[in-house]
Amino acid sequence: MDLQQLIRKNIQALKPYSSARDEYTGEAMVFLDANENPFNAPYNRYPDPLQRELKVAISKQKSCEADQIFLGNGSDEPIDLLFRAFCEPGKDNIVTIDPTYGMYQVAADINNIEVRKVKLNDNYGFSAEALLEKTDKHTKLIFVCSPNNPTGNLLDNKELIKLIQTFEGLVILDEAYIDFAPGASLLPKLSHYENLVILQTFSKAWGMAGIRLGMAFANPEIIRVFNKIKYPYNINMLTQQKALELIEQEADKNQWVELLIQERKALEEKLSKLPFVVKVFPSDANFLLVKMYDARGIYDFLVENGIIVRDRSKVVLCDDSLRITVGSPEENQILLDKLNELL
Ligand SMILES: *Cc1c(COP(=O)(O)O)cnc(C)c1O
Repeated sequence: MDLQQLIRKNIQALKPYSSARDEYTGEAMVFLDANENPFNAPYNRYPDPLQRELKVAISKQKSCEADQIFLGNGSDEPIDLLFRAFCEPGKDNIVTIDPTYGMYQVAADINNIEVRKVKLNDNYGFSAEALLEKTDKHTKLIFVCSPNNPTGNLLDNKELIKLIQTFEGLVILDEAYIDFAPGASLLPKLSHYENLVILQTFSKAWGMAGIRLGMAFANPEIIRVFNKIKYPYNINMLTQQKALELIEQEADKNQWVELLIQERKALEEKLSKLPFVVKVFPSDANFLLVKMYDARGIYDFLVENGIIVRDRSKVVLCDDSLRITVGSPEENQILLDKLNELL
């Protein structure tokens, strides 16, 4: 892969905005360089534009290098930046699986990039070959998601690696739900693949959807491209502080994950026994895709009773299916009690 070749010409030529905190990063007695208000510390100061302290903490937690990390305002930010850095509007295209997470399509549409979709097979698996066949010389990115949303399954690692090794553009592997599939992440192998971008997030297993913090892991050359085009202070001070604090509580995260995996299993078993449930698809994530007779009717019934799930019945290969997040034991019981009222 030739990264320079992949980057849009205007981005290659871009002279990035240089902020006060880019130009001077050390300690000082008096800071008079950023037109900040001297009062109301610490909120009066701009945050670290490159989130150095937080990246060091994450690099230890993830056993990678700090310069392999980009942090964004949710995963949506690196998704959008990938389009803006690599895809020429009206000319380039991306390839992805179908069904999958809706943001790839939306980010593509905003950037006027064609999306070429390859349907998953009946078990929601994919073949590298089928994705590669859809590519042409204008295909810059391939998006895959494992465990996939909304189907919940991990994608086959051998196929993923084949895809990464064969494709000459970037492969984006969205691992938002990877904590719920222990041992399956490709992150430990990141350094082997210079065209791999792995997305993870603090929104799911870490329980921090509210602070908006997404991660992209890639080789430092790709990270530099993100840094060049991002908003200068894309991660605010409160988010950086809170994340630093909560990363120290990894034990809590691990407990939540363990409990949610147990609850997933229990919920799967109990839902499978309901006569109007056709199938509960196997899940490696914190949600279940459940095929039912009259999914829309059941969705409406649940809404009337104050229980909100996601109706996916209009999504390709998800006919008559609801996507149900695994909640706390109490929440799951409330759901099951309501569904049992239909018997
Ligand atoms: C929830 C989710 C994310 C996380 O998005 P954030 O913007 O980080 O909250 C990313 N990818 C997929 C597939 C998801 O389902």
